[in-house]
Order: sequence, then structure tokens, then C-alpha cells
Amino acid sequence: MLGECHAHIIMDGKNYKEAVALHKSGVKEEVIRAHFRIWGETGITFVRDGGDALGVSGRAKELAPEYGIDYRTPIFAIHKKGHYGGIVGHAFSDWKEYHSLVCRAKKEGADFIKIMISGIMEFGAFGVLTEEGLPENEIRQMIRIAHEEGMTVMAHGNGDRPVRAAVEAGLDTLEHGNYLKKETLDLLAGSGTIWIPTLAPTGNLLGCGRFPDEQVKRILRCQMDNIRYAFARGAGIGLGSDSGAYLVPHGQGLLDEYEWMKKAVGEEKETELKERLTESESRIKKSAVGK
Ligand SMILES: [Zn+2]
Repeated sequence: MLGECHAHIIMDGKNYKEAVALHKSGVKEEVIRAHFRIWGETGITFVRDGGDALGVSGRAKELAPEYGIDYRTPIFAIHKKGHYGGIVGHAFSDWKEYHSLVCRAKKEGADFIKIMISGIMEFGAFGVLTEEGLPENEIRQMIRIAHEEGMTVMAHGNGDRPVRAAVEAGLDTLEHGNYLKKETLDLLAGSGTIWIPTLAPTGNLLGCGRFPDEQVKRILRCQMDNIRYAFARGAGIGLGSDSGAYLVPHGQGLLDEYEWMKKAVGEEKETELKERLTESESRIKKSAVGK
């Protein structure tokens, strides 16, 4: 069974505000345990989290061995003050603060550094993000500082410009990466960056009624076409469902992600797909600090 390369143990796939609120006055261990049990029942033995601001994924890391799960976390994500990322981490307003957050994550046991370089998807409108993303020089600086501290970098990024800057700066893993242009996909394919395109949070919205289906379909189609293009050019692609996101339950989310991914590259390429996803997963496992 392939591992889950992008999950949020703090969320529940239903209502993130309520899920996060459960831990507001202290980490609720039973919630973490319930999610680990589901992964165990699904046969998932590797999980990589996106971090959170309340210490939930940090506690989860301590509990994971009880479930035979190799669980990796950045502890919390790092975002620039005034930009997206508050629900998953802490903010910086200058480079001194950024550097000390990187050092704090390391000290608290982070396996890698998670950074936020752009906004999130507006699923109701194709091509629209909640914000366009940080300037290129700031993205490069965030990656450089984390690398200098000996940490690999996971970046939440959508939109062509910020993602291209991150890949050029030697980003280790790109999360989501919606709306990339061909040149950036070519660049990605020739780089060491592993792309985790998270199709389930888009695909699983179809028919739910929260957003117009024709917009969701366009977003999904665009991402699937890009995956097929990058896959054919040898890009490192990994399997991660963003489980915990709306309508992406832990466990089942990864099975859904695999089905969407198969549709993207073509059912006839399933054997190669499995091999390539496995290879990306083992690269991710090896690159984490302290393993
Ligand atoms: Zn995520």
C-alpha cells in the first residue's frame, strides 16, 4: 500500500473550524488516535502531515509508533504575516523571525520545513486563488534559509509564478501546484522537486453542491492534464490526498487520490504509475532529517 504524502491530522474532512476547535484548550489525543486507527485499517503505514499551530501533529508524532505508522511532520507550517497559513502554523514578518521559526521547528522535532508561498483555491471560479503568492526573491530566501539549516522543504504553492520560483530555488516537494504552465512543468520534470498534486480535494467536490460543478470540473481537468504532461516527461510525482480537507476523509482519501491519479495518467500506465509513486515516496522518506 502506498503512503499518504500529504495529510492534516488536525482536520476531519468535514468541518475544519470545528475540528481545529477541538484542540483549542489542549491536544485531544483520542482524535489523533481515531485517525491513526483509520489509516491502520486502510493499510497505510507512511503519513506525512502538513503541520498545525496547536501542537497536534507534534503529539501525533509521539503516538504514531503505537500504530506502526511512520509519521512525519513539520510540526507547524511557516507563512508570511498577513498571508494564508494561520490555521496550519506560525507567521514571520522579517528574516530574523523566519530563521528563528525554522530553528524552533527543528528543535521541536520537525522532519522537514513547511512553507506557504501562495493562497488557496477558489473552487467556485477556475483560475482564481485567494491570493497570488509571495514575491520570487522571498520564496528563494525561505528555501535557502531552511536548506542552510539542513532541512528539506515542503511548499504549499498554487499558481505558475510562485511555483516556478520555488522549483528554481531547489524546492524539495511541491504541494498542490494547480495552474502550472507548460514551461514550469518542463522545469519541474528536469528538477529534483517532487510534486504532490492533491487531486482529491478538487475531485471529491464534484456533485456535492457547494461549488458549481462546471468550475470544479475545469479545475480538475486542468490539473489532470498537467499531471499527464509532467508524468510523460519523467517528473517526480507523489501520492498525497490532503486528507482532512473538505470531503477528503483520512484513509479513504488516499484511495480516492490514487483513482484520480490513475485517471490523470491513463489506466494503461498503472504499472508505471505505481513504480513512480513508490520511488517518490522512498525519496521523501530518505530525505527527512533524522531518519
Ligand atoms: Zn494540505
